[in-house]
This record gives sequence, C-alpha cells and structure tokens, in this order.
Amino acid sequence: MYDALDTYKLLDKLDTPIFVLKVTDFEKQDFKLIYANEANIIACGVDLKKFIGVDLRANFPGLYEVGLADKYFESVMTQKTLEVGEVVYGDKNVNRSAYTGKATPISEDTVMVTYKDISALKEAEQKLLHQNQVLKEKNKSLEEFAYITSHDLQEPLNTISSFVEILLKTYDERMDDNCRQILGHIGSSTTRLKNMIISILEYSRLGTQKEKMNIDCNLLVQEIQEDFKTLLDSKEVKLHISNLPSVNGSASEMRMLFQNLISNAIKYQEKGSIPEVSINVEDNQQGYWIFSVTDNGIGIAENDRQKIFKMFHRLHLQQEYQGVGIGLANCLKIVQNHNGKIWVESVLHQGSTFYFTIPY
Ligand code: ADP
Repeated sequence: MYDALDTYKLLDKLDTPIFVLKVTDFEKQDFKLIYANEANIIACGVDLKKFIGVDLRANFPGLYEVGLADKYFESVMTQKTLEVGEVVYGDKNVNRSAYTGKATPISEDTVMVTYKDISALKEAEQKLLHQNQVLKEKNKSLEEFAYITSHDLQEPLNTISSFVEILLKTYDERMDDNCRQILGHIGSSTTRLKNMIISILEYSRLGTQKEKMNIDCNLLVQEIQEDFKTLLDSKEVKLHISNLPSVNGSASEMRMLFQNLISNAIKYQEKGSIPEVSINVEDNQQGYWIFSVTDNGIGIAENDRQKIFKMFHRLHLQQEYQGVGIGLANCLKIVQNHNGKIWVESVLHQGSTFYFTIPY
C-alpha cells in the first residue's frame, strides 16, 4: 500500500511551468487562473500563485494581444491539445521573452498550459547564424584575395620568363657556362612558380560553379581513360574499373577529382613497375557512395597520410616525381564541396587506396 500522494506538492517540484485556466465567459472568451505551480517563478519571473482567482484579461492583457488566449480558448472548444509556436510575450506582470508552449484541455471549460522560455536558445541560434555569416564572408574574401593576387602575380612572372628567353637567345655567345646555367635555373624556377600560381588560381575557383548536375561516373572515367591513352599505353597501365553509379555534382570538379587520383596512382610507382589501378565503389547504406582508387605503388607512410592533402605538401623531390603538390588539396576541397570525405589507407612499398564519399 502506498501513502496517498499530495499531487499539488508533486506538481510544485516539477521543472515544467504549469498553469490552469477556467473559462468564465464563453462569449467574451474570459478566463480566470485556477492553478499555477512554482516553476512559473523561474520560467516567467512571476509567482502566478498570487494571481489565482483573478481575471486573465485584466491582469495579463498581453496574452490576448499576441493571440495566446485565442489558442487556449480554441483548445477548450476543440478539446484538442494545441502547440503554441514561438511567440514573444511580455506584460505588466510578466517578463518579456520568447516562449513556446502547449495548451491541453482538462475538461469542457478548463485548459492546462505548459510553456518554456526559449530566449536563450534563440539568442544562441542568432549568434551562431551571425558567426556562420561572418565566416562565410571571410572565406569569400580570402578566396577573392587568392584569385586576385594569383591572377596579378602572373604578369611580372611572364615578363621574367620572356627576358630570360631573350637573354639566352640573344646573348648566348657572350655567356659562359656558369651564366647559362644560372639563367636556366631562373627560367625553371619561374616556370615552377607560374605553375604554382596557376594551381592557386584553379584552387580558388573550386566551388564557385554552383549548379550541380547528374554525372555518369562510368562515362566520366571512360573519358579520362581516352585523354590519358598515351600515358596509359606508354606505362602499360592495367586499369580495372567497376560499374560506377551516377552522382549529383559539378562535372568539371568530379572530373578533376578522378583525374588527380588516377594520375597519382600511375605516377607514384617504383621505377620499372607496371602500374595496376582499380576503381571501385561501395554503398555505405547511409546515403553515401564510397569510391576508391587503389594502386600498387610506393605507398605512403602513416605520418604523411594527413599532410598530403595540404596545399603544396609533397613527399618527394622534383627529380624523383614531378608535381606541384596541389592535386590532393583540390581533391579535398572538391569532396568537401560535395558534402563528402576523403582519406587514404596505404602500405609502404605495396600501394595505396584513396577513398572518397559522395552522397547519393
Ligand atoms: P603532386 O602529385 O603534384 O605532388 P598531390 O597533391 O597530388 O601533388 O600529392 C601530394 C603528395 O602525396 C605527392 O607529392 C606524393 O608524395 C603523395 N601521393 C599522392 N598520391 C599518391 C599515391 N597514389 N601513392 C603514393 N604517394 C602519393
């Protein structure tokens, strides 16, 4: 046997503010307050218990002005629980704040109201929205900065290149070997810098083409294969391609993604080995395709597997393997623009698999 519980005491211990209204005049939609628990003190800054028995309209006119009293009345009349959406309410007796609540009919003339103050939540939401906007603007101006500077930097570099060429052509007979060699170095460094600047330009443009389309990845990889025919033939590459799905995305970016991963798989091989490259796909059953590009190349040490996705991060000298070091940074940006992820698994001297996900 349980002792009888004091229900009012129990309701006073609840965190949820509750008050109950009774219709006193159906015509005028008048109510009086017949119950309130203690949680109201914290929730709206008022001890509603002090208002028990009083007329609602006279003491809380704001409830009528913002349409809350209408909802309470509707709940009584329809005998249905009604959600009261976000509403900003304040009164001579109640703190002004943003509230949501619920009106639940208890009898044919009484309704119970529960509510919560959501101003802190709204404030946090506003702050987050603002921060997000600031971040977006900063990102945009950074990309514009990258675009403008890399665009303008090309001009003086072109001038240096042309003058090096003129010097080498016109003054060739008057130069000794040392001088020729130095000019050669200036020329090749300038070309390298130019390539890097072009890469930054390309990188800053990724994501600017907003329209997405349906892309048949089979067709895409087939086209890349045709473009790479000379390279594939000369290196005797064994290419295995599974049946690939169609995805929604930017055609030029998806093409660049596959192209970078395939060309790296062919490039980063031990001398003399025949590259074997497989392109596969799996459905992760959670809304994503997991594509993979596997090679039998030199592999990547565990410590380097994150770093290689950073701009201009290379693990080898130009003499060993040529490159600018931006291909994988592009891949990362492209995959992120398509709401996916990219990562690599690898065994040194045996090969690597680059995985990336694209939502379907
Ligand atoms: P790049 O090829 O121009 O150097 P990437 O950004 O494409 O630039 O690659 C960055 C680095 O990651 C490469 O320099 C190489 O060291 C490493 N890497 C990329 N792909 C592979 C691969 N398939 N196998 C081994 N190492 C790779």
